[in-house]
Amino acid sequence: MEKKKAIVIDIDDCWMDSRLWISKAPIGSRNEEDWDLFYKKVYLCKPNKSFIRDVINFIFETNVFPIFVTSRSERVLKDTIFQIQNNSSLVVGDTCELYMRTPFNDFRSSEKVKKDILIKLMDMYDIAYAIDDTEINLEMFKSLGIKTVIRYKINGDDYERV
Ligand SMILES: [Mg+2]
Repeated sequence: MEKKKAIVIDIDDCWMDSRLWISKAPIGSRNEEDWDLFYKKVYLCKPNKSFIRDVINFIFETNVFPIFVTSRSERVLKDTIFQIQNNSSLVVGDTCELYMRTPFNDFRSSEKVKKDILIKLMDMYDIAYAIDDTEINLEMFKSLGIKTVIRYKINGDDYERV
């Protein structure tokens, strides 16, 4: 059976403007309390309306299936579903999917979390497109053979194929 064509979409500093929230991240900490405090502030993210509009148009024009892949913890699963559904007509588990970092004691890098998810997804989908703002993730997508990898820059609202 032919695999469904899909696009992998990043959440932070793509779908959401997460600059204020990310600035509060306890980078390098292995203390669950630090991360708990950080995740409680996920409401600081604001919808990135122009990105959302562009991506939704692209999805409907090309008829690709949207899959959100984020290194956010599943501790903020509900908030993340809200941030997707409150800002679009997409429904998680129906017209789109969402994959996240496992909830506790998962200190893998963002790139590793996404790579592990991607490898599983590629069994089920033809991942034709991936869009992200982080260089190391873009390189990883290319190394997996994804044909169209797009770098989004929230500063300047800019898309570039890499
Ligand atoms: Mg990001």
